[in-house]
Amino acid sequence: MGQAGSGKTTQAQLLAKFLGVPLLDAGDLLRSIAQEQTPKGQAIKEIMGKGELIDDDMVIQSIEERLKSEEYAKGVVINGFPRTLGQAERFSVPTDKVFNIKISDDISAKRLLARGREDDTAEVIKNRLKVYHQEPIIAFYKDLGILEEVDGERSVEEIAQDIARRLEK
Ligand code: AMP
Repeated sequence: MGQAGSGKTTQAQLLAKFLGVPLLDAGDLLRSIAQEQTPKGQAIKEIMGKGELIDDDMVIQSIEERLKSEEYAKGVVINGFPRTLGQAERFSVPTDKVFNIKISDDISAKRLLARGREDDTAEVIKNRLKVYHQEPIIAFYKDLGILEEVDGERSVEEIAQDIARRLEK
C-alpha cells in the first residue's frame, strides 16, 4: 500500500522479482476490465476517470477471480489492493505481510503531475489523496500485526533493501 505517487508500484515489482513470484497490480487489472465493452467495464471506466475508488464487491470479485489462476499458486505480490477497510476485511486470501510506503501529500502531488497519466490531473489527484486518507485500513493491518510502515522518501534501492530485510521479521 501507499498513496498515489509513493513509488509502491516500483517497490512491488522489485519485491515480486526478489521473491520469484508474479505481481498482480489492482490498477492494471481494473484498467484492463475497463476496456471491455460490458456493463462492468463501463462502470469501472467511469469511476476510474473521476479518481474515485471502485466498489469493494467489484474489486474483491475481480481480484479473487484472477488469483484462481495457476500462476499465483506459489504466492503473489499484490499492488494496490486491499485499499479500503471493507476490502481488507472481506479479502479471503491469507496475507503474510502488508507494506505501507509513506510519503507526504506534497511529494505525492509533485510526482503524480510529473508522471502525466490521463487520470493524473490536479483535481483528480486531490480527490485521490482525500479518498486515501479517509481509510482506516492501516489500523486494521496494524492490529493484525502484519503491517510494515516504510519511509518512501528515500532512494529506490534503500527502500527495496528495507522491505527485503523486513520480510524475515
Ligand atoms: P492506481 O493504478 O493504483 O493509481 O489506481 C488507479 C485507479 O484504479 C484508482 O483511482 C481507482 O479508481 C482504481 N483502483 C485501483 N485499485 C483499487 C482498489 N483496490 N479499490 C478500488 N479502486 C481501485
